[in-house]
Amino acid sequence: MTTAPGPCPCGSREAYAGCCGPILDGQRLAATAEQLMRSRYTAFALGDEGHLVRTWHPRTRPAQVDLDDTEWTGLTVVASHAGGAEDAEGTVEFVARWRRGGRSGRMHEVSRFSRRAGRWLYVDGDHD
Ligand SMILES: [Zn+2]
Repeated sequence: MTTAPGPCPCGSREAYAGCCGPILDGQRLAATAEQLMRSRYTAFALGDEGHLVRTWHPRTRPAQVDLDDTEWTGLTVVASHAGGAEDAEGTVEFVARWRRGGRSGRMHEVSRFSRRAGRWLYVDGDHD
């Protein structure tokens, strides 16, 4: 179980316990593709490899998720398309900021999500 006091790393301005926390802990499913995307960013930020594996589509999931020493320092969701409670597919465009070995930068990605048996899963993404 991952714990982080205070605001959620995903930048929602909600408390972790009322945002991504219950999703990472498996108490609640992400209701939308954007919620799942936020929870996966939070899992990267907190080093929760289990959540990343569980929420990765089996078709594209790597055999193992190895987190490096990248520090994820902020998330901005730019746009969401579909990915709601009535949808089977969705995309989320976001910018994630990172720091690693004295360098910092931002990753801009459009991620694709698919819903299988009521669960949103990350499929793949295009980033620059
Ligand atoms: Zn969150």
